[in-house]
Amino acid sequence: MSKKPVPSKKQAPSSTGSRHGAYVRTARKKLANKLALSKCPDCGATKLAHFVCEECGKYNGKQVIEPRKFKTAEPVQEIAA
Ligand SMILES: [Zn+2]
Repeated sequence: MSKKPVPSKKQAPSSTGSRHGAYVRTARKKLANKLALSKCPDCGATKLAHFVCEECGKYNGKQVIEPRKFKTAEPVQEIAA
């Protein structure tokens, strides 16, 4: 005879799904609390709390760093065959 605990009933897929959903919700909540995102008061972009805004380069209303410069795609040079 097996001495392992044998489940008496098969686990319903919905029970598995709801347990997984609860796990995902708590994991997302933990991640959101860890990141501590906030809105930049100057430009309104989402940024990390207590960090310089990367979009406008301001912190507490002062210009701290150069704003992020978007890279423009360089024209592709055709290779002469
Ligand atoms: Zn900003």
